[in-house]
Amino acid sequence: MILGSTGSIGTQSLEVIQELGGDYKIFALCANNNIDLIENQARRFKPEFCVLYDENNARDLKIRLKDTGVKILSGIDGINFIAAHGRADYIINALMGQVGLTPTLNALRAGKNIGLANKETLVAAGEIVMRTARENNARILPVDSEHCAIWQCIQGENMGGVEKLILTASGGPFYGKSRADLESATVADALRHPTWSMGKKISIDSATMMNKGLELIEAHWLFDIAPGNIDIWIHRESIMHSLVQFIDKSVKAQLSVPDMKMCIGYALAFNNKNKRERSGAKELDLTQIKNLSFAKPDNNIFPELARFAVKEGGTLPAVMNAANEAAVDLFLRGKIKFLDIFDIVGQAVSRHKNIKNPGIGDILNCAEETIKSITGHFI
Ligand code: MG
Repeated sequence: MILGSTGSIGTQSLEVIQELGGDYKIFALCANNNIDLIENQARRFKPEFCVLYDENNARDLKIRLKDTGVKILSGIDGINFIAAHGRADYIINALMGQVGLTPTLNALRAGKNIGLANKETLVAAGEIVMRTARENNARILPVDSEHCAIWQCIQGENMGGVEKLILTASGGPFYGKSRADLESATVADALRHPTWSMGKKISIDSATMMNKGLELIEAHWLFDIAPGNIDIWIHRESIMHSLVQFIDKSVKAQLSVPDMKMCIGYALAFNNKNKRERSGAKELDLTQIKNLSFAKPDNNIFPELARFAVKEGGTLPAVMNAANEAAVDLFLRGKIKFLDIFDIVGQAVSRHKNIKNPGIGDILNCAEETIKSITGHFI
């Protein structure tokens, strides 16, 4: 089952599944509102269910697919229903933003393994998500290149021997630029990522370095490593996807061309037979690349804010994440400037009255209030 099938990770997941052939059957596809693409995917992959978040689009899709026998559902209830469905044994959650949280929890409660590309789920509610996975004997398999790299490096290792994690970052389109350069940065400038082809939200997160902040929190929860033991290095070529340093100072890294199909395939194969399979990714030829470069980040604002938020815990990481979602959305819609993203998120974090040991309701409420209060200013 693929949640978010029409986005960047969703479409690449379907390519990997096509590459792998007959072993895999798509049970359900779920998308926000790209009705043309999900119709096309439904005809190719013949799922039992399609879910569209928007009700009107779902009605339209039902008419378009009436010759196929595919059942159509809508809304968050539809997504939650298929996420916990007894006939789905593996879920790729590639939804965008915190909307992915409740389907993740529903799937975990039903004991299902999740290939998680929706990192906001772990940022907003990492403690609850990891506990729910443990209690239900379900696994979270990372579909994020850095975390997939770390995961490959720790296979067969004892986690007690891990000293620190090093997340690599491309630095995005604005690496090395001055604050003055960024005053006039446009949406098109911010979306022009040097090495990865990704969705809009994550491309902006990469330009602000919030993506690395979110990934620091994601790595903390996935691998149970203290936030202070996770470093970030700029690596412009996006070939070495992350490193693990052990207490004997040995370092392991994972390398491949920047292609998410490798991570999608690894998580899928791991879930199925715990062994590697083809992914459709291209071969890495280091003799062509010749040099790999590494440097300390020149913009640490969001990675350090994220480190602070996860150390503080409570509802603060969810608020930081929600403020970022709201600010990125406003920027993409031309309502604010690029540098305003930093002010909006910083202010939301500093004003928040943190709730310690929150339930899922507290987390969702705080996130919703944060989004409302930020977007309310720009209607
Ligand atoms: Mg990543």
